[in-house]
Amino acid sequence: MTAADRGRAHLTGQKPDGSFKWCIYPCQQKDADGKTCRVSVSAGYNGRVWSVTGPADAPTISPSIDCQGGCGWHGFINAGVLS
Ligand SMILES: [Zn+2]
Repeated sequence: MTAADRGRAHLTGQKPDGSFKWCIYPCQQKDADGKTCRVSVSAGYNGRVWSVTGPADAPTISPSIDCQGGCGWHGFINAGVLS
């Protein structure tokens, strides 16, 4: 599977301080058929803190995302591209 096949992520749920609540990305299960997964990138959520940089339609999230309880995907989002 290439990076292009995995699709792109974006941010949503902008808060008053300008930060975003959610990172939405295509579910990485084989038969996902357009479904999306999301992870809260709010500071401190679930004891985790992600660094979120870049525009809402091409975010870079660091460190990696582990889609626990979702599709099980574990990978990186760089400039909106899943890898
Ligand atoms: Zn997932």
